[in-house]
This record gives sequence, structure tokens and C-alpha cells, in this order.
Amino acid sequence: MQLRFLGTGTSMGVPVIGCGCAVCTSDDPRNRRMRTSALLRDAGQTILIDAGPDFRAQALHADLRHVDGVILTHSHFDHVAGIDDLRPLCDHSGSVPIFGSPRTLADVRERFSYAFTESSVGSTRPSIELRPITTPFQIGPTAIIPLTITHGTWPITAYRIGNLGYVTDASHIPPESADQLRGLDVLVLNALRYKPHPTHFSLSEALDVITDLRPRRAFLVHMTHAFDHAAAGAQLPPGVAFAYDGLEVSID
Ligand SMILES: [Zn+2]
Ligand SMILES: [Zn+2]
Ligand SMILES: [Zn+2]
Repeated sequence: MQLRFLGTGTSMGVPVIGCGCAVCTSDDPRNRRMRTSALLRDAGQTILIDAGPDFRAQALHADLRHVDGVILTHSHFDHVAGIDDLRPLCDHSGSVPIFGSPRTLADVRERFSYAFTESSVGSTRPSIELRPITTPFQIGPTAIIPLTITHGTWPITAYRIGNLGYVTDASHIPPESADQLRGLDVLVLNALRYKPHPTHFSLSEALDVITDLRPRRAFLVHMTHAFDHAAAGAQLPPGVAFAYDGLEVSID
């Protein structure tokens, strides 16, 4: 199973528009963070995790030609705004199934209502099928376990796929979900910045989660411009790294 980080930034991305800080003006390409999303390749399946506003650029960088399914963590704009840009893939792949919680998919139906009306035709709308999930499901042979986490006061979805745990936009992981995130080869986990935030783990909170869950490797995502990849990355404990856009990891 191969995971490619398509984007690793928070909702504004990095650089932040108009910001002149050292990270936003850095020459290190690892400090350029598109909105958080990932591509998983497993057993001949290509699975997109979230489709944010940078999806088009991310798909071109990854030479993406086909998706078998999209799994959504939640309906915030930075995770769903790219759904319209699935249109060329719908031409190649037929209609694309989108999996998520019933609430997430209700939001998608409302925001992308034109995709579900008879009057919009052909390439003017993405051909998508909404598949609400609350229990484990499969895309082809790939088994996917949805897990409830909280994002502020909002219950959203994390996923376990084999020995990968994918957790973004969490501020809390309930014990019953944490129990399903043990024994991982790779944990992807959000870490917004150094300072606490009401709806996202800070770096120290994320490191506490990693200490509890004990994955073999952890990759941090959904970062602001608070972190210089090289300097802040050198301070992380063994087995923990900041992910960066385009990074690919193999999962055992
Ligand atoms: Zn987000
Ligand atoms: Zn900045
Ligand atoms: Zn969010």
C-alpha cells in the first residue's frame, strides 16, 4: 500500500496570502503546503482522501488518471472544494463514488446541488454517487474502517485502512476510536501549530496522541506557517516527521 501526500497545509495553505514570514518566503519546497489531502494506492485501487481547493494542481502533480473512490473526513471547504474538479476523472472513470458520514454527504449534496439536477448535463457537473457510511466498507478489495473523532464539538471521520491510520482536523480522539488506531505502521495526524487551538491538535497535543497510540511511524499534516520543515522537523522525536506535499510512503 502506497500513500502520497497531495497536500499537508491548513485551510489557508502555506504560503499564506500576503504573509512575509520566514516560512512563507522560504526557498524550501517542503514549506509550500497545499490543503491537506492524500492519495492511497492499494491492490490496484486508487483512493482519494478528501478533495480540497488545491485538488486540480495536486492531481496534475501526481499524474492522476483514475480514482476508484473518494473518502471524505468532513465537509469543511478545505476538504471538499475540489469535488467539481473530479469532472475529468468522471469522464475516464464513469461516476465516482464518494464515501463519508451521512452528515458530510448531506453537506456535499447541498453545496454541489447542481451535480444532482437533471438540467445539468455532461461535463458541466461532476458525475458522483454519494455513499453514506457508518460502518466498515470496501472499495474493491480494500477494507476501510471509519472512526469517529471530534473537530471542536463536531463529530467527523478518521479512517483505518490496513495498518494506516488517517486522522485530520481532530481536536480529540475518543477512547473507542483510539483503540482502533493501535498497532499501526503509519499514523497520519494533524498538528496545526505550537499554540493550542479550539478545533485542531497543537503540536504538543499531537505528540501526546502519538505517544499513546505508538505507531511505528507518524507523519504530521494540516500545518500552518508556524513550522519550518527543516528546523522544526529536527526537534521532533524519533519516528515522527512533518509530511510534505509529494512525499510518498509505503505502508506494511
Ligand atoms: Zn481542514
Ligand atoms: Zn507566513
Ligand atoms: Zn475542518
